[in-house]
Amino acid sequence: MASGEELCYKGWQHQFGIDVEKDFGKAFEYYKQAADLDNGEGLFWTGFCYNWGIGVNKDDKEAFKHYLRSAETGYYNGIYKTAICFKFGIGIEEDKDKHKEWFNKDSLKQVRFYAERDSEAKCEICNNFKTGLSWCITCYPDMTIQSWTSRDKKIDDLLKFFQLRTCTRCYLVKWIPFEKLVNIEKIGEGGFGSVFSAIMWNNDLCEHVALKTIQNFKEVSLFNSILNSILQMCLCLILY
Ligand SMILES: [Zn+2]
Repeated sequence: MASGEELCYKGWQHQFGIDVEKDFGKAFEYYKQAADLDNGEGLFWTGFCYNWGIGVNKDDKEAFKHYLRSAETGYYNGIYKTAICFKFGIGIEEDKDKHKEWFNKDSLKQVRFYAERDSEAKCEICNNFKTGLSWCITCYPDMTIQSWTSRDKKIDDLLKFFQLRTCTRCYLVKWIPFEKLVNIEKIGEGGFGSVFSAIMWNNDLCEHVALKTIQNFKEVSLFNSILNSILQMCLCLILY
């Protein structure tokens, strides 16, 4: 029998079309099977599918139920979404005390969560108040995490963990596909590999960026230590 982790991996493959055809119905089924094993990640994604109608009819009550069960297993994204549901009354009545309780369990609670709240303007998706751009804190990060994949689940999980907790574009940690980079020129050698300068196209804007290559990227211990450095870097960016 497949483990919760294996089922989540299959769910992810079908959700983003990695080595299989994209199929939201199947993605939901795999996440649901993981959820039935009480796997925190499976419970989170099952809730997320209910929240946004991915491969199943939208149902906020079911979304909340699964987020809460995920939170109870200690899964970080489940904790965050449970706090959000209590804050905004998604699938459950608003409850300030319960929001605070779960919010305080979230390891990234210091993120500038509700900083840009604008009570005048409405979110295009949920008609709730807007927190920046045209979407709100409950819709904007959720839309962001659905819209891309690095094709590597570990990298996706790490970056989406931060994206899910970001309410403004300036703090958003992003995955940039290689095709967006032009004029790549080598400028030096570093500890792990080479350093390059490049120009990144972002819609019609271009930005100068620095690139680092990493040798032996496939080596598991090195890959994990690099993911850990990215984690630390993102934490600094968001918390300080
Ligand atoms: Zn919204």
